Amino acid sequence: MKDHDEETLLAEVAALLDLPEHIGHPLHGALQRLYRQHRDQRQQVERLISISDRYQLLAIEARQVTQQRYERTLRRQRKLSRISDGYQALMRERNQALQQASTHDPLTGLPNRRLVGERLEQLISERRRFTLALLDIDHFKLINDRHGHDIGDRLLVAITQELSATLRHYDLCGRWGGEEFLLLLADTDLDEAQTIVERLRHRLADVTIHDDGQPLSVTVSAGLSQHRRGEPHQHTLKRADEALLKAKRDGRNRSLSATR
Ligand code: GH3
Ligand code: MG
Ligand code: MG
Repeated sequence: MKDHDEETLLAEVAALLDLPEHIGHPLHGALQRLYRQHRDQRQQVERLISISDRYQLLAIEARQVTQQRYERTLRRQRKLSRISDGYQALMRERNQALQQASTHDPLTGLPNRRLVGERLEQLISERRRFTLALLDIDHFKLINDRHGHDIGDRLLVAITQELSATLRHYDLCGRWGGEEFLLLLADTDLDEAQTIVERLRHRLADVTIHDDGQPLSVTVSAGLSQHRRGEPHQHTLKRADEALLKAKRDGRNRSLSATR
């Protein structure tokens, strides 16, 4: 029975029970109790339904709040992980930049003295054969004095580019000092190294830059020394340095090898 129909019926019964001509009827008392009992039960059921509805509503609201909270936390975590990824990438870049800055020369991009020293130690620990060549630009001070430091820098960079282009990929060329370069020629004996350095010396002499249209080039001198098994690299370097000094004294623009 629909709620509406039941209400109408109850109203009808209540009205009938209230009529004075029915009050003395033998069924009146029993019917009235039945009516009241039914009405009370109905009110109780309605109360229970309303409580259950409220509970359901609360449960839905609680679910929504939990869901919203979960989504907010998820969004926050995603944002944090994006920020953290960004920081990590930044740190990686910074570390790479730091690593590059601590091991390379900023002007030429060549490995610096520290990195060259490490490679020398590595070659020795691997018991590899190698020859060192110390190259020094001749009269470089004159270039700076006559054309300025910037032109000197440009010439240094141009020389570096030719050095890098000419050497074999397994050779290492480092900037040893201002206008000095150290070549590590791995798995190379003195005779082979002489051929390589002479070829290099001629190519470097052909490197030209222009200052106001005026062509500028330089020559280099070199001292070579082959590593003797078991000796510290400083000894090999010292012989290369002495050979370089001799090349300078002998008139520059040449390479000389230290005795084996
Ligand atoms: P030598 O033939 O005896 O080697 O003569 P040199 O003039 O090359 O040698 P010296 O040691 O007298 O001078 C080296 C010059 O190299 C002096 C210095 O100003 C210059 N130099 C060193 N580093 C740089 C640099 O990074 N840029 C420029 N432009 N010049 C530099
Ligand atoms: Mg020098
Ligand atoms: Mg010089």
